[in-house]
Amino acid sequence: MSCIGTAGHVDHGKSTLVTALTGIDPDRLAEEKMRGMTIDLGFAWVTLPSGREASIVDVPGHESFIRNMLAGVGGIDVALLVIAADEGVMPQTDEHLAILDMLRVRSGVVALTKCDLVDDDWLALVREDIAERLATTTLAGSPIVPCSALTRQGLPDLLAALDHAVEDAPIRRDLGRPRLPIDRVFSMAGFGTVVTGTLQEGALHVGQEVEVQPRGLRARIRGLQAHRHPIEEGHPGGRLAVNLTGIARSDLQRGDVVTLPGMFQPTTALDVRLQMLASAPRVLAHNAEVEVYLGAAEVPARVALFADDALESGATGWAQIRLAQPLVAARGDRFIVRVPSPSLTIGGGIVVDPHPRRYRRHNAAVLEWLATLADGAPEDIVLAMLRGQPGITRSSSLQVARLGNYGMRELADLARLVSMPTADVEAALTALVERGDAVSAGSFYVAAAQWQRLSHDALQLVQDYHRQHPLRAGMPREEWRSRLRLTPREAMEALSRLVNAGGGTLAEAHSGRGAFVCVPGYTPHLTPPQQQAVDTLLARFRAEPFAPPTRPEVEDSLGAEVAALLIEQGLLVRLNDVVLLERSAYGEALWRVVEYLKTHESLTVADARDLLGTTRKYMLALFEHTDERRYTLRRGDDRVLGPQAHEVDTLARPMSE
Ligand code: GDP
Ligand code: MG
Repeated sequence: MSCIGTAGHVDHGKSTLVTALTGIDPDRLAEEKMRGMTIDLGFAWVTLPSGREASIVDVPGHESFIRNMLAGVGGIDVALLVIAADEGVMPQTDEHLAILDMLRVRSGVVALTKCDLVDDDWLALVREDIAERLATTTLAGSPIVPCSALTRQGLPDLLAALDHAVEDAPIRRDLGRPRLPIDRVFSMAGFGTVVTGTLQEGALHVGQEVEVQPRGLRARIRGLQAHRHPIEEGHPGGRLAVNLTGIARSDLQRGDVVTLPGMFQPTTALDVRLQMLASAPRVLAHNAEVEVYLGAAEVPARVALFADDALESGATGWAQIRLAQPLVAARGDRFIVRVPSPSLTIGGGIVVDPHPRRYRRHNAAVLEWLATLADGAPEDIVLAMLRGQPGITRSSSLQVARLGNYGMRELADLARLVSMPTADVEAALTALVERGDAVSAGSFYVAAAQWQRLSHDALQLVQDYHRQHPLRAGMPREEWRSRLRLTPREAMEALSRLVNAGGGTLAEAHSGRGAFVCVPGYTPHLTPPQQQAVDTLLARFRAEPFAPPTRPEVEDSLGAEVAALLIEQGLLVRLNDVVLLERSAYGEALWRVVEYLKTHESLTVADARDLLGTTRKYMLALFEHTDERRYTLRRGDDRVLGPQAHEVDTLARPMSE
């Protein structure tokens, strides 16, 4: 679906022509009927000779209502510039043409209307003048069709020309990121809130949950209409009426954008390339106050010039637009700039970065970043976006929240940031990975330099941890993640790449206490004095195998960490919180108990004590353990052979063997 927008000076016959072409009078307000003049946007639609349907947005030509014209012109594919043959080019003809040029509307038709009022010689003169004015704009060479809404002369030619223009217009992009700049809001009895606009960059369908930005309000699509017909799904370029539930008419206004939850964050600053109109009668000084028109929104703003003290008419420069109210924008959006009192269109431009930082002026790195984003090849743009804004080294928590600590990006996320089709971004990423400028980690991509920083930081953290905790198997994975300020998914993919790629920078270990990150091949180790203390202690364990030092005693002489390590390594076996046995003594004890029970029906605590030459305390701890493992079963105070006793045969060997 395509959208045609009228343009041209007041009273030149735009609305009359739309009515003549479509049978729909676009002037819908009582005041418009009374004054015989378009005040606000009007809407109609037409079936072109090829059978194609197109929407028509009719704009007011009067300079007092230029802001309404700007709200409507944002989404059009084809311009229908209407010029009355008797008057020829007038001030708003020029202004509207300049606006179409700034917005880079490349497809158009000039309707040289009211032909019934002039003779052929005059018509030829006006035609020549128009062709000359078009020549320096995006509409250069557009067909000029003499016609009259009154006599209907030339109307079939006009429709045919519009048909071609619609066919020639650039195809509407679908970036999977729908947004509908709202140009009208009203409520309808029995329906509730209805908004209209021209859908861009994605589809919307009935039942979908939507988000209205910059307000951050959620609503649901209850119904969709195109040209008064109910539809299930709207596509890019379509003029839609959207019936929203869960939101009041008073919550919304023209310029708000209907989009999907999480797809756009409002912004109060835009880095842009600004172009002054050749006809702009004033220079634009650094920090000048302006009005910015983007989508259907109009926001007061200041313009900070990055490299110039002022922009002359016709000049182009880099600027940061600081908005008085938030709006929704994406890279590549076109906008118009006007100055108030006297109200004038002075220029326009293109959004290069919709979420900029504040920069110092005259900064070469910033100018280069902007130039790449504006004019670079797709690979350069994607790489620039991966690398992020210049001057970010150590990220602030705000930037981490928005960009992630190392700028790890997923394809869909990147495609949205650069406003390019996913397939193009994917191709660019493949090339970047191939030439070593980017690295892929699972579904994420990272600029090579940032990946190096990430690998370095990740390894450093673990090495430091090993130094501080030589007895531990490694750094708990969750601590590693949060110290690097990665999201759980980023951490998982980054770790997997660090473990698996290029010989392995890191390794992952699992123990009863969870997942750890360590240096590959790392084994916890003791210092020589610790080793000596361990040897002394283990000698005491061997001297009295079944009545050895208790855990509190072990911890007193070795420290809790070393004690835990000996248990983790299996040198000592924990029977309960107090009693530990050395590994071979443990095996021997189990073996003796089970062997005894193979030839005796049961074993009393007292007999067991004698069997091992130990005390009641140790024996009770051992039984606690064997009962739990079902090597033994408790009968009153005695023990009988348990169902799992056979396991002992494989576990334990007599000490003498
Ligand atoms: P707009 O401000 O550009 O929308 O102009 P309108 O459509 O409101 O028309 C302005 C005036 O021009 C009205 O009085 C129309 O009747 C008149 N008009 C429009 N088209 C023609 C035409 O083709 N021939 C003549 N003679 N008058 C026309
Ligand atoms: Mg009109």
